[in-house]
Amino acid sequence: MKAAVLTGPEKIEIQDVATPEPSGSELLVKLKCCGICTLEQRLFTGAVRIRYPLIPGHEASGEVVKVGPDVLADIKPGARVALDLVERCGECYYCRTGQSNMCVNRFKRDEKVLGGFGEYIAVNATQAFLIPDALSFAEAAFSEPLSCCIRSLKKVGLHLAEDLLIVGAGPMGQMHLQIALCMGARVFVSDPDRARLAMAGKMGAFLTVDPSNENLVAILKEHTDGRGVDACVVTSIAHAALAGAFESVRKNGRVNIYTSYTDKPPLPVDANTLHRTELTVTGSEGRTEEDFLQAVRLLSFGKVDVKPLISATVGFPRLETGIRAAMTSDTYRVLLEHEGA
Ligand SMILES: [Zn+2]
Ligand SMILES: [Zn+2]
Repeated sequence: MKAAVLTGPEKIEIQDVATPEPSGSELLVKLKCCGICTLEQRLFTGAVRIRYPLIPGHEASGEVVKVGPDVLADIKPGARVALDLVERCGECYYCRTGQSNMCVNRFKRDEKVLGGFGEYIAVNATQAFLIPDALSFAEAAFSEPLSCCIRSLKKVGLHLAEDLLIVGAGPMGQMHLQIALCMGARVFVSDPDRARLAMAGKMGAFLTVDPSNENLVAILKEHTDGRGVDACVVTSIAHAALAGAFESVRKNGRVNIYTSYTDKPPLPVDANTLHRTELTVTGSEGRTEEDFLQAVRLLSFGKVDVKPLISATVGFPRLETGIRAAMTSDTYRVLLEHEGA
């Protein structure tokens, strides 16, 4: 099969590699679409290193072409699936206590974590989630990032009819917004990028704020009887965004750090303020199988529309151009579309 192989920083080659052979409990999936996420961008630039050579891609969808004899699920060749490309061990403490996003063995067989940039992948049947015909493979490839946003909103404890601030209106901010609306929130979105704010407005944000020109904290207080929002999710890596988040929540409010950082910024809050305001700070990393299943269902039910976030699709010949485009603020998601998708 053909695969896009990362052989070093900024070196991605289309190579002929062995087509994987599924084991008894695995499915062979012909991949159709795979998102180019921040991880792929950082692997490409060398900001994140795993090992070389490697086939990137972790936001994938495809069609089942072979079913191992030990697969118990009612899944047949031709089934359309979204893939959760983390192989959770099911044996460790975290897997057994419903926190499989922290599975201690999830990177041990790291070829099963990525691989969406290849034409085929063999995955455990537990990693495949059926999608309806009405959902395109490109849309289904958003299951993974959506599931991480679901995890994030669970961590921040979003309740019905609360005020939520989303800091950052990139693809992750826009996905948080749509899920939060499903959960009955009134959503404020802040970002210095006007075009991204306009998109958030179209997606249903109650109010969008450009913190580089407007007083974010004052505006939020104006709409919340002077309290500030109930909860806030940080999806932007800007340090100023982090500071704004902590100033925007009410007493006993919650902040979730969704984004990952390549540096290690300190929290802009002191211990006494935490004590006095009863602020809760959480992080969220990855997703569990339940989060993934819920993401697939939100897409399948038509509750979340990711079509406006598809900025471009590229094939193998234009993959490198696509990765570079994905790194600009002009795009939300650029997807690799395999031949025949
Ligand atoms: Zn991702
Ligand atoms: Zn585990």
